[in-house]
Amino acid sequence: MYHLDEIRKDFPILQRTIYNKPLVYLDNAATTQKPLCVTNAISEMYNTLNANVHRGVHFLSQRATDLHEAARERVRSFINARSAAEIIFTRGTTEGINLVASSFGEAFLSEGDEVIVSTMEHHSNIVPWQLLRDRKGIVLKVIPIDDAGNLDMDGYEALFTQRTKLVSVAHVSNVLGTINPVKRLAEIAHAHGAKILVDGAQSTPHFAVDVQDMDCDFFAFSGHKVYGPTGIGVLYGKESLLDSMPPYHGGGEMIARVTFEHTTYERLPFKFEAGTPNYVGTHALATALDYVSVLGMDVISAHERELTAYAMEQLRSLPGIKFFGESAEKDAVVAFNIADIHPLDLGTLLDRLGIAIRTGHHCAQPLMQRYGVESMARASFALYNTKAEVDAFVAALDRVRKMF
Ligand code: PLP
Repeated sequence: MYHLDEIRKDFPILQRTIYNKPLVYLDNAATTQKPLCVTNAISEMYNTLNANVHRGVHFLSQRATDLHEAARERVRSFINARSAAEIIFTRGTTEGINLVASSFGEAFLSEGDEVIVSTMEHHSNIVPWQLLRDRKGIVLKVIPIDDAGNLDMDGYEALFTQRTKLVSVAHVSNVLGTINPVKRLAEIAHAHGAKILVDGAQSTPHFAVDVQDMDCDFFAFSGHKVYGPTGIGVLYGKESLLDSMPPYHGGGEMIARVTFEHTTYERLPFKFEAGTPNYVGTHALATALDYVSVLGMDVISAHERELTAYAMEQLRSLPGIKFFGESAEKDAVVAFNIADIHPLDLGTLLDRLGIAIRTGHHCAQPLMQRYGVESMARASFALYNTKAEVDAFVAALDRVRKMF
C-alpha cells in the first residue's frame, strides 16, 4: 500500500512553509527532495566512517571502500546491468554524456561521421556533441518530433547513413514528458551498425529501468533526480565497448602502473574514475535507490501517472491553457503556457503562494524553437506529491490568471 502521509514524513523539507504558505514543491524534474535516510547516510558516513577509499589498509578505509563498492553493486542491480564493471560513477548525467563524447568520440569518430540526437534533448545532450563537432568535424543530425511531442520514427530511420556511428537520445523528455521508445530506437540503431546512448536523467526517478532489456550501449543518470545527493551520477556502458575506449581523465585511481615513459590503466570501471571518488555520494545514492526500491518503482510510477493525468484534467478547464507534450506515453511532467501571461510572471506569483514550479527554456532551447516560444511553465511530480497539492496548484494558477 502507498501511504502518502507516512511517505511525506520521510521528507522534512515538505513540512516547511514558504511566505507562510505550505510548500507545494512541483519542480521535481529539476531536482527531487531527499528522504531522511539519505541525509542520515551522508552525516553518518562523515561522522563515523570517513576515510579515503581503495588505498588504505586501515579499518575505516576498508569499511568506506566496502560501502562504495556495495553502492556500485546496488546501482548495477537497480538498472539491471550485467556486471558492476559496467557501472562508472560520474558527477551526473552531464558528465556521463561528456565522457562518452570525449572517449567514444576519440576512439571511434572521425571527420564526417554522424551522431543523431533528437529535437527534445536537454542541452547536456546537445552541446557535448557540438564540442566534438568543433574538434573532429563530425556531423550532428536531429530526429524531428510531431506536435504532440512524439519522435518521428520514419524521420529517425531516414537519418541513417553508412557514416552514422551513434544515437544519443533522452529516455524521457524533461519538458514534454514523452517516454521515448528506446528499445525500438536501439534496434534501429543497431541494425544500422550504430551504438546508442540513452539519457536516463528523467526516467530513473519514475519507473524501473533495465539496460539489458532496452539493449542500450550507454545509459547515463543523475543521483539528485532520484532522491540521492547532488554531485553523483552513473554512466553505464557495455563492458566490451568501455574496454575499447580510452580513459577520459588521467590521475590517481585509474592507473595500473606509472613510469615517466609509460602508463598502463586500471581495469574497468576504475579506468574511467580518476581521482578520489565521491564515496559519500555513492553510499547516499545507493541508500536512495534502496528507498525507492522498497516503495516499488511500479507503485511509484502508477501514483505519478495518476497524478499527472489528474493535473492535466484539472488544468484543461482553465481558459487559455496550452500544453506542450501530449504523447500517449507521458511521464510526470506538465509543460504549459496560459493565455499570454509570461511564464516568469506566472512562476513568480505562484511562488508567493508557496508553489514552486519552473519557468524558462528548461535547458532545451531548440525544443522551445520547435514550438515557437521563448519559454514555458513546467510542473513536475514526484513520489511524494498529492492530489491536494495539484488542487492547490490549479487554484493558485486560476487566481493568477484572473489577475491578468
Ligand atoms: N538530461 C535531462 C533529460 C535532464 O532533464 C537533465 C537535467 O535536468 C540532464 C540531462 C542533466 O542532468 P545533470 O544536470 O544532473 O547532469
